[in-house]
Amino acid sequence: MKQNKILALKYRPQVFEDLIGQEILTKTITNAIKIGKTPNAYLLTGIRGVGKTTTARLIAKELNCEKNISPEKNCSKDKACDSCKEITNSTHIDVLEMDAASKTGIDDVRDLIENSKYSPTSAKFKIFIIDEVHMLSKQAFNGLLKTLEEPPPSLKFILATTEVKKIPITILSRCQRFDLKKVNIEEILKHLELISKKENGNVSSKALKLISQVSEGSVRDGISLLDRVITYQNVSSKNEIDDNDIREMLGLADKTKIIKLLKEIFAGNPNNAIKTLEEFLIHGIDAKHFLNDILQILSLINRKLSLGTINDDKILPEEEVNLINSVSEGISINDIGLFWQYTIKTIDDLRIINDEEIILKMFVLQLTHLKGIESNSINNSVSEISNKVETKILKDEEDIQENKLPKTKSQLKNTEQIKTKSIDQLSSKNQNKSSVNINSFEDIVSLAVNENEIELKYDLERNVKLVSFKRGKIDISFNEKLNKNFIKILSEKLHTWTGERWIISLNKKIGSKTIFEKKNEKKKNEISEANNNEKIKALLEVFDDANLIDVKKEDNS
Ligand SMILES: [Zn+2]
Repeated sequence: MKQNKILALKYRPQVFEDLIGQEILTKTITNAIKIGKTPNAYLLTGIRGVGKTTTARLIAKELNCEKNISPEKNCSKDKACDSCKEITNSTHIDVLEMDAASKTGIDDVRDLIENSKYSPTSAKFKIFIIDEVHMLSKQAFNGLLKTLEEPPPSLKFILATTEVKKIPITILSRCQRFDLKKVNIEEILKHLELISKKENGNVSSKALKLISQVSEGSVRDGISLLDRVITYQNVSSKNEIDDNDIREMLGLADKTKIIKLLKEIFAGNPNNAIKTLEEFLIHGIDAKHFLNDILQILSLINRKLSLGTINDDKILPEEEVNLINSVSEGISINDIGLFWQYTIKTIDDLRIINDEEIILKMFVLQLTHLKGIESNSINNSVSEISNKVETKILKDEEDIQENKLPKTKSQLKNTEQIKTKSIDQLSSKNQNKSSVNINSFEDIVSLAVNENEIELKYDLERNVKLVSFKRGKIDISFNEKLNKNFIKILSEKLHTWTGERWIISLNKKIGSKTIFEKKNEKKKNEISEANNNEKIKALLEVFDDANLIDVKKEDNS
């Protein structure tokens, strides 16, 4: 095996020059140390894996480096001074690291504060590095605050956190804050190329690009992934690792294929779209990654449509850029807005519905239906339709009902705007246009019977529980027996029957009983009521093997 140390540790920057992506911060910190103007407490913030603990150690090194203390001492990358060496090896007696994620209590901080009263043993400063400092308890913060208020001159704190909002303002105000940036993809890529070369990894440049993209600004994630890739290469004795290997390792879908899927959706080809989706499903894609990829592509299309070019800070393969350019033709920015909202709603659905396959199929079919919703409804003005789809996206119907704000003509700008129009207004407008009157869920069942839609009637009665019904909008919950295409079929039928677009959405709430259950219950009640009737009692006594199975009321009119 080539590596005996994990790469993230092996390539952890030991001097500021090696810290990538944080040039300004580096300059500010080192210059201040050079002129001896250092804060009592540093606070380093940033996403995970961006180099906070590394920076903390580098600051500690710089503060205590022998070259900064006596001019005749030397310290360089190749020949570090004793102090720097000890910090690298975590053996420096005056530099103490504490992980607040595991030591959150006041007692842990008390030890530290007790320790802080003593002067440094060998170095200029006694330095406490507290990682994940937001995890400290309230009492622990209070304990720490006292020391921060009046620190001995030889004491320095370096606090690091991913969640700066959780740190009390009293602490914040006593720290000099440094925000570590997300490292951009180009820089991560350059770094990974270097490491890959040094480690004799044979990883294609497309693969390295993909690794840089998925690390999302975290150098550590990028290196860890590269580590996995090189290990995999050694184990499988594969000649070259390419981007497909990476996708397989991470369960990522090929973006170009996703773009092709969107193309089918845009073209309104449900059959082709489902076929393409099924190819993804066979490979066992992760639904959340998949939907996030869709969002990313939608945002790129949006860029192309709004700005005329995709230019982004992400390095995109030329193939993807070309595909996005071609797919953007003939699609409107409104459609992209609708798709975006619906995709986000679907990601939300992942939390409440277990079967990812159903969700994704539903998603794709609904999208083919969403596209061009304007052109399908000639009777309605653009704003009305988009408002309708907006309401479809809204999860909490209650929010809408109360709202009687003036009507705003707009497209999907924000939820406030979406709420401004109540469904009541919408449906009353459309009422006169419809050819059939549907005023209750039961009306739909009767229509299904009249129209000879037996399967639909069956599903409506037995497999659907009504959560709420309004003209134009039905919320349902359902059981596992429900036909996969139920929503699509029902919305198409309703459209044909009423000439209106109906919005059918799945609701988290459990609906009332199914119609079938209700009918059964009613029958049971009637039978038990009838069984108590004196005449029937007498009858049943005569025919002792008879059972009352149904009750029919006579029409009195
Ligand atoms: Zn040094």
